[in-house]
Amino acid sequence: MEFKYGEKEEKLRTEIREFVKAEMPPHFIGKQFEDETSAEGWAFSMSMSKKLAEKGWLTMSWPEEFGGMGASHWERVVFSEEASYWGIPGLGMGISGTAWVGPSLMLFGTREQQEKYIPPIAAGEPDGIWCTGYSEPDAGSDMAAMQTTAIRDGDEYVINGQKVWTSCAHWARWLWLACRTNPDAPKKHQGLSLIIVDMQSEGLTVRPLENYVGGHVFNELFFKDLRVPVENLVGVENAGWSQLMTALSFERGTAVGTTAAARRMLDELVIYTKATGQIKQPQVRQKLAELAIDIQAARLMANEAVWKTVQGQTVIHEPSRDKANGDILQEKLGRIGSDIIGVYSQMDLGLEDNRWSRLKGAFEHLYHYNIGFAIAAGTTDTQRNIVGQFGLQLPRAY
Ligand SMILES: Cc1cc2nc3c(=O)[nH]c(=O)nc-3n(C[C@H](O)[C@H](O)[C@H](O)COP(=O)(O)OP(=O)(O)OC[C@H]3O[C@@H](n4cnc5c(N)ncnc54)[C@H](O)[C@@H]3O)c2cc1C
Repeated sequence: MEFKYGEKEEKLRTEIREFVKAEMPPHFIGKQFEDETSAEGWAFSMSMSKKLAEKGWLTMSWPEEFGGMGASHWERVVFSEEASYWGIPGLGMGISGTAWVGPSLMLFGTREQQEKYIPPIAAGEPDGIWCTGYSEPDAGSDMAAMQTTAIRDGDEYVINGQKVWTSCAHWARWLWLACRTNPDAPKKHQGLSLIIVDMQSEGLTVRPLENYVGGHVFNELFFKDLRVPVENLVGVENAGWSQLMTALSFERGTAVGTTAAARRMLDELVIYTKATGQIKQPQVRQKLAELAIDIQAARLMANEAVWKTVQGQTVIHEPSRDKANGDILQEKLGRIGSDIIGVYSQMDLGLEDNRWSRLKGAFEHLYHYNIGFAIAAGTTDTQRNIVGQFGLQLPRAY
């Protein structure tokens, strides 16, 4: 068995590296985290999104009729690795759109929905920016407990309720909303549907929710008699649960990027410890090697999930396995990196290194944000439950 990519994939890798040199201001290279909290950060990411779309890379694995390149799974892996390694912004911006709304619409959407909503996503347009409304104050891990309703009234649904932790709702043009269309269904997983909501609708209030480091990414959404046309229903009314599970598996399949970003940070740490002389300390060398082992194992696992897909096998628990593994890896990387950098690791003063911050503040950022990464798209515990249920065929505990 030989682990290497083909000629086509390696050519793409070279092209992406050239793109990075040409298009990324040097201080952005290797800055691993998109700035979704400031208008400037958002504008820069949007401009990069557009450039990626022009290259065809933003949605490269989509069929050509939907604005993709029909690229292979392995080309997509190489793109994801390189984009994450170099920290190319503009992917997270439209992530709801490119990662799960677009692919879900291809599977469940009507022809009209596909024609209306998919092209702006593939083109990296502001009109292709989506946010996702699943979580509610009393429905997080137990998502099927959601209470927001959309009740049919003639040719419209009338929506009432509340969502929470809605990332980037203040930037988004559309909302991918999970809600209850039949409140009388006997079981909580029944009677749910997916509905598209225009973020400029009357009856919608978006309230900012600052995170624990003072950044504004999250929002609360309040719906008061908000009306949408019935054409905005995605797929089959009241059969939303299985569509939601499919959309969530798209969302969790991000391990290739996580691993490549971790590799970049490890490479930076190695350079840093060589410069400071810390590389001579046995405990530092041990920690760096420990990370190298974890990162390589995570990369192989992520590639195994892709390989299974290429073979035509259905991957059910693998995205959850790799998401859980990525959560643990990021936590460890943040902790070890911060230990090595010491007190300087507490400073993230923007894009340039200066007297007080080190490695562009990337470890400060990771140390704080890995907690959120390990909750988003379902907590690490939720991923382990899925591995238990579908990977080990354990009976459900609840
Ligand atoms: C960065 C980030 C971005 C997000 N973006 C969005 C978004 O755009 N749209 C959206 O809808 N939501 C979003 N969320 C919300 C996210 O999906 C929820 O926070 C997550 O599903 C957990 O729900 P909860 O916060 O209600 O925690 P809870 O479900 O209350 O969980 C609390 C704790 O109990 C544990 N737990 C709960 N149930 C079980 C169980 N059965 N077995 C074992 N342990 C369990 C959990 O692991 C956790 O540790 C985002 C969250 C984060 C952090």
